[in-house]
Amino acid sequence: MHYDIQNSKTGDKFRFTMNAKAREALPTASSAVVFSVNPVQIELMTVRALMDVIVVGAGLAGLAAARELQNAGFGVLMLEKSRGVGGRCTTKRLGVGDLTARVDHGAQFFTARGERLQKLIIQLEYSGVVQAWTRGFPKLTARGLETRAAGHARYVCTEGMNALAKAFVEDAEGLPLEVVTNALVGAVFPSHLGWSAVLENGEIYQARSLIVNAPSPQALALTRSSLQPQTLQALEAVQFNPCWALMIALEAIPEIDWQGLEIEHEMLEWAALDSSKRTVGSPPTLVLHATPAWSQAHLEQSPETVAALMLEVAQELLGDWVKPIVMLAHRWRYAKPSITHPEPFLAQDNLMFCGDWCTSNHSRIEAAIESGWSAAKDLQQKLGTPLQANPHLVP
Ligand SMILES: Cc1cc2nc3c(=O)[nH]c(=O)nc-3n(C[C@H](O)[C@H](O)[C@H](O)COP(=O)(O)OP(=O)(O)OC[C@H]3O[C@@H](n4cnc5c(N)ncnc54)[C@H](O)[C@@H]3O)c2cc1C
Repeated sequence: MHYDIQNSKTGDKFRFTMNAKAREALPTASSAVVFSVNPVQIELMTVRALMDVIVVGAGLAGLAAARELQNAGFGVLMLEKSRGVGGRCTTKRLGVGDLTARVDHGAQFFTARGERLQKLIIQLEYSGVVQAWTRGFPKLTARGLETRAAGHARYVCTEGMNALAKAFVEDAEGLPLEVVTNALVGAVFPSHLGWSAVLENGEIYQARSLIVNAPSPQALALTRSSLQPQTLQALEAVQFNPCWALMIALEAIPEIDWQGLEIEHEMLEWAALDSSKRTVGSPPTLVLHATPAWSQAHLEQSPETVAALMLEVAQELLGDWVKPIVMLAHRWRYAKPSITHPEPFLAQDNLMFCGDWCTSNHSRIEAAIESGWSAAKDLQQKLGTPLQANPHLVP
C-alpha cells in the first residue's frame, strides 16, 4: 500500500509505502486518522500509541528538550535519522592498524557559562563523562604562533564528544529516552490529534505536539507546507555555513605546546590534537577544519580531493610531521549558523523548533542545550497535564 502526496504550495511530490508490519497494526477502522493535505485527502492509519511529544532529531537541543519533558512526566519519542545520537556533536571510529581511534569531527569542545549547564557539567565530571581540556588556544597567523592568556574552561568527553549526547539519553534521574535511530522523517502533518511524523519506510508516529531539532534548512523542508507566514519568515531568515573536516591518524605527534590551534588562513581555521582528549595509548590523531568560504567553494568536491588539498596546506602550516596513516574528510553541509533566530526557540502553537540556531548569542553546544530546555519549558505549559501515565517515569 503506498500513498502519493503532493505539497500544494511547493508542488513537491513524494511517495511512501506502509510496510506489512504497519498494515498488521491496523485492526479496526476506528484506529484510522484522517489527514487533510490539500489538494489530496489521505487516510493514514495509527501505527503507534499517541505520545505527548515527538522530537525529530536527537541532537543536543532535541535531547535536552526530550529529557526535560520526560522527567516532567510526558510521553516522549525521539526519531533520529542517523545511527546514533548527538548530531553535530559526534565521534567517528577510525581503524588504525589493529587499533581504533575515536575522533571528534564535529564539535571539538564545549563551554558552560549558564548556571544550570555548569551544574550538569560538575555532575558529568564527577561521573567521568566530561573533563576540562584546556583554558584557551593559541593562534597561528602569518606572523607566527600567538599565545593568549588562559580563559574559561573548555570541556571535552574522553570517550568522544557523543558521550555528552548519550548522557542525556541515559540520565541518572530518569529512565532512558526512547530514541528510534535510522529513522529519517520524510514528512510531518498536523492532524486533529496534534502532529504526525511519517518515516521514509512508511511508519507513522503521532503525538499531541512536535519538536523539530534540525538545522533550519532541514527543519524548513520538513514543515514548510504547515507553516504560518511569520514562522516561515523566521526560518527562512536563518543561514548556515558549511565546513569540511579532515580526520588524520598519524604515526606520531612531536612535542607541541598546544592541544587546539586557531588558524588565520584562507583555507584552514582550526587544528586539534584530538588524541590529547583521550586516554594514554590511543593512536595519535589530528582534526582540521576548513573555513566557511573555502568549504562553500569546495562543497561538491569528493572527500578524497578535499582531503588531499587540506593535507597539503596543513603540512605547510604545521610542519612535515603531519604524515597520515589514515585520513578521512567529512562534509558538514550545515555546520554553524551565520545568521540566527534571536530567541531561544521558535514556536507555532504546539509545533516547536529548537537548536543552536535559536540564540542571540554564539551558536554552539551551550546554545543548543539551552534552546532545548527553553522549548521544553514552553511546551510543558502548553500541554498542561501528560496524556497518560508515562511508562518512562521512575515510580
Ligand atoms: C565542524 C563543527 C565544529 C564545531 N565545533 C564546536 C565547538 O568546538 N564547540 C561548540 O560548542 N560547538 C561546536 N560546533 C557546533 C555544535 O556542534 C552545534 O552547535 C550543536 O551540536 C548543535 O546541536 P543541535 O541539537 O542544535 O543540532 P544537530 O546536532 O544538528 O542535531 C540535529 C539532529 O537532527 C537530525 N535530523 C535532521 N533531519 C532529520 C530528519 N528529517 N529526520 C530525523 N532526524 C533528523 C540530525 O541527524 C541530527 O542528529 C561545531 C559544529 C561543527 C559542524
